[in-house]
Amino acid sequence: MLVTVAPFHSSTRTITSTMADTDSDDEYRRVHLPLSQNDNKCAACHKSVPKIKLCSGCKERVYCSGACQKEDWKFHKSYCGKTEGLDLDAFRPLLAWMANVSHIHRDKPIHFAMLHKIINNCNPDTPWVELSDGRQARLVVVDDRQPPIFPYSDPMVWWPLAQSAPVARKMQRRILYTGYVLPILTAVAGSLLSEIYTTTSRAGSHDKRVRLQYRSSPIADFGICRGAARVVAEDRLVFYSMKTRKFIGDQDPKDHYWLYFTSVKGEEVYLDFSMYPFNFTHLVNTVGYPPPQQAGVVTSVPCFWSERELRKRNLSLYTEQDRVSVLRNTKLQEAMQHCSNHMTDWDLNVFHIFMEAFSKKNLTATEKALFNSWLWESCRTLGEVLDTQLYKTYPKEPQTAFELDPNETLDGA
Ligand SMILES: [Zn+2]
Ligand SMILES: [Zn+2]
Repeated sequence: MLVTVAPFHSSTRTITSTMADTDSDDEYRRVHLPLSQNDNKCAACHKSVPKIKLCSGCKERVYCSGACQKEDWKFHKSYCGKTEGLDLDAFRPLLAWMANVSHIHRDKPIHFAMLHKIINNCNPDTPWVELSDGRQARLVVVDDRQPPIFPYSDPMVWWPLAQSAPVARKMQRRILYTGYVLPILTAVAGSLLSEIYTTTSRAGSHDKRVRLQYRSSPIADFGICRGAARVVAEDRLVFYSMKTRKFIGDQDPKDHYWLYFTSVKGEEVYLDFSMYPFNFTHLVNTVGYPPPQQAGVVTSVPCFWSERELRKRNLSLYTEQDRVSVLRNTKLQEAMQHCSNHMTDWDLNVFHIFMEAFSKKNLTATEKALFNSWLWESCRTLGEVLDTQLYKTYPKEPQTAFELDPNETLDGA
């Protein structure tokens, strides 16, 4: 019955009753889209507005002038409600934390190089190699002829030729964070759609909404970009299996995915949790971001954040080939009409099809099952953060850090 997905600002008359409906039936909800970048018509006089003014209460209604806003208030006040802006920069450590939890998930298969000894010198100062197929990377020789060892055992036992224990631990993390790029991003983006842009996004939220914003402009769209990340040979890894005598590639930087967010003002930022395997060790501190009972031992997690300043200086890492919206995808919106606790196989399958169509690759059964858990867990975490208003304690700017190799310096960043 609530399959129609209507943009918030254009179906405003029905919103109040819809919200009331959802009180009695928490299983159904509908997506409320924020303003898009093209919404430039005054809500009162319907003229196109060259420079939009937003209602400061909800930031979801456009006016040309104060007079028009005053005129419209008698219609608007019943559903205006205060919208709280969640600043993306301040909020991103939580999203990075969700991506990190996906990587350390107990059902995620452990990379074979984590389970067996590394027996060569592949320290940061060793030269990279070129394979016969043209691949250039640092070679990691894995002795998998022996039975597996406990993955997090002493890093110097795991890799005796490592320069130091920190170098070995960093190598372990690079391997740990390898792969599953698209399912992890899709789970994070799906949880934003589910918990932030729907009617029953959180308990008691019917008269107060939260919406993402960037530099005080509401987020108009978010989704996933596909393309190439610029990675040099010494920052790539290629694994050699002693048992099968085969080279096993790392994550492919030419088939990379990252999140984009566009604000109503037209600003765009990227968020990427999957550059760590390529030795881009941008970290954020996540202490205090997840609900306390979910917090684990890992505190600093990978998070690469790219703003206009970086791109203006031509430091962008990315060559984008394609992008797909998550927020404005009608199929995903329909799948989200069931709350995360009541998602059906059909709903989840919509997400699987979405990922397969975008990547032009089939997901494995393991990837599908993992994605289902990750989406549910991300929704649960985000829902709880919104319910308890934990986000109000987040500092304005997250604490960031780099994890440099010995003798490595920061240049250009
Ligand atoms: Zn007007
Ligand atoms: Zn308003």
